[in-house]
Amino acid sequence: MIFENTIEFAKQLDEQDTLKSFREKFYIPFINGKDSIYFTGNSLGLQPKTTQDYVVNELEDWANFGVEGHFHARKPWLSYHEIFAEQLAKVVGALPEEVVAMNQLTVNLHFLMVSFYRPSKQRYKIICEAKAFPSDQYAIESQIKFHGFTPADAIIEVAPRAGEYSLRTEDILSAIQQHSNETALILFGGVNYYSGQVLDMESITKAAHAAGITCGFDLAHAVGNVELKMHDWDVDFACWCSYKYLNSGPGGVSGVFINKRHIDNKDIPRFAGWWGHTKETRFKMEKGFEPIPTAEGWQVSNAPVLSMAAHKASLDIFEEAGLSNLFAKGQLLSDYLLFILNDINAGSTEKLIEVITPANAKGCQVSMLMLKKGKEIFEALKQNGVLADWREPNVIRVAPVPLYNTFTDVFLFGQIISKMLSV
Ligand SMILES: *Cc1c(COP(=O)(O)O)cnc(C)c1O
Repeated sequence: MIFENTIEFAKQLDEQDTLKSFREKFYIPFINGKDSIYFTGNSLGLQPKTTQDYVVNELEDWANFGVEGHFHARKPWLSYHEIFAEQLAKVVGALPEEVVAMNQLTVNLHFLMVSFYRPSKQRYKIICEAKAFPSDQYAIESQIKFHGFTPADAIIEVAPRAGEYSLRTEDILSAIQQHSNETALILFGGVNYYSGQVLDMESITKAAHAAGITCGFDLAHAVGNVELKMHDWDVDFACWCSYKYLNSGPGGVSGVFINKRHIDNKDIPRFAGWWGHTKETRFKMEKGFEPIPTAEGWQVSNAPVLSMAAHKASLDIFEEAGLSNLFAKGQLLSDYLLFILNDINAGSTEKLIEVITPANAKGCQVSMLMLKKGKEIFEALKQNGVLADWREPNVIRVAPVPLYNTFTDVFLFGQIISKMLSV
């Protein structure tokens, strides 16, 4: 598509957008008495207007039934997590028995590493990206220490080359080859939270398996943003959060994927709890853990129904919109944003903005390295009703998301930035 940096063109794209009615389904925060330009859906997605009803229904059932709500609620709490299997399977490209909604993201990272980071004296290293999201770094470091190894020795980080901002697949693959005999686990963010780069998860998994290494992904910035095929790519495990692109509310329930090859393997160690125990005998309350032979067998505690109700409200909207429609619009929004940023650079004698998100491997997030007046522009954005995200030293991350952002949002954002840069 040939883009134009004009309000007429942006409005025309909005008019043609088959998903345009979905914006109405969300509460858009107000700034200075008008709708904000909300570009932080990659940090906390907005609230669907239906969420309240979903949550209130559970509150009503709790009021009406008390403990009997486990059986008599409209969506019985005993099996509440089961309502997510089909929808989550679609979102991450899995079989329904390979996914379960449970816990929080970092908690799940730990539980999954208990099962899938199985270091031996010889093979104990973890290959990951340099500057991974801090929570992931802490989880990896502490797991390594827990097994009696030292992080400085056991962590192999792959970084972008000097002067570059994204990882080259070839560099990840050569790190895997180089360390194949000493590596126990490969764990990357499927989409890098800082640069927005989408990794070639399929090639990484293939290379890992060729070297006999287990491979998992943190999908926090990938889920609901880009197409995923966890099962077909043969990934061993993955986890994600639901409060970013999945709009399920602050601290919303996380989800995990465990490959079918592993789900009924009782030899894989795990930290067990009663909700992972075989349903038929769970309430016999007896000794001897018998895991459910699906990803559900990794559950520990009973389901957090109130936060899961919000999750359900959001997943129903994803289903209505259609994942492929959403991903296509997300690409178009971020392509339009790239075009506008290029146009701003082209209109100046010096380069003002370095886009560090690779144009050919992105979802809807664009990360801009501000070469001039970074913090000043960021502050001005907020005053002008734009919610974006600042990362030290001078990166602004923006995510125009397909469910509620518009091409006009992107155009107006460009106007504010070019005005700031030209004064
Ligand atoms: C958002 C995010 C987290 C947050 O972890 P919580 O346990 O949900 O607080 C962790 N890792 C990555 C990569 C993230 O993007």
